[in-house]
This record gives sequence, C-alpha cells and structure tokens, in this order.
Amino acid sequence: MATADPAVRVEDKLFQNRYLVDAGRCHIKVRPHTTPTPALKALLTACPARCYELNANGQVEIAADGCVECGTCRIIGEPSGDIEWNYPRGGYGVLFKFG
Ligand code: SF4
Repeated sequence: MATADPAVRVEDKLFQNRYLVDAGRCHIKVRPHTTPTPALKALLTACPARCYELNANGQVEIAADGCVECGTCRIIGEPSGDIEWNYPRGGYGVLFKFG
C-alpha cells in the first residue's frame, strides 16, 4: 500500500501546476483601502498559493498568477466587500497537473 511522502511540501505540489495568465484582467480585485480590515489581513496567511501580500504602504495587494481557484479568499473577503471574486475567463487560469 502506498503512503504519502511526508517530505513533500504543498509548495512543491503547487509548482507542478501551470497557469495561463489573462494579462490585465485579474479575476480577483482587492477593494482600494488605506488600512486593511481584519478580513484582508487574514488573506495574507489563508491563501494556500500566497497570492496576497502587503505592499510598502501596508496595504494588501493580490498577484493572482498562481491562484488555484480554491475559493478560500472568496469566503473570507467577499461577504464584507473587501474583494471581488470571479473565475478567470474560459481558457485562462490554473491548469492542474496531478501526480
Ligand atoms: S482563490 Fe484560493 S488560491 Fe486563489 S487567491 Fe483566493 S485563496 Fe488564493
């Protein structure tokens, strides 16, 4: 019986995926803000692909190029209006590689 290799990290598995970036049409938008809300701050650690970062002014920004479309940030940030979340246009976004 095969067992999972405990040495395999999530980041290593995510690296197997490929992404087709829809340049200039990010499918997730962060509402402009001066100070991030608790929900926005939570996205910095909740996103498994680490798409959210603090910029030099302490504001939360997104670089969704590595987004796996899991919806975690949608659950945390969309009800409060902190983010606007849509799927990428057809043909764009993550291409999952298994194995
Ligand atoms: S959908 Fe998932 S992977 Fe994409 S930005 Fe949100 S939390 Fe990160």
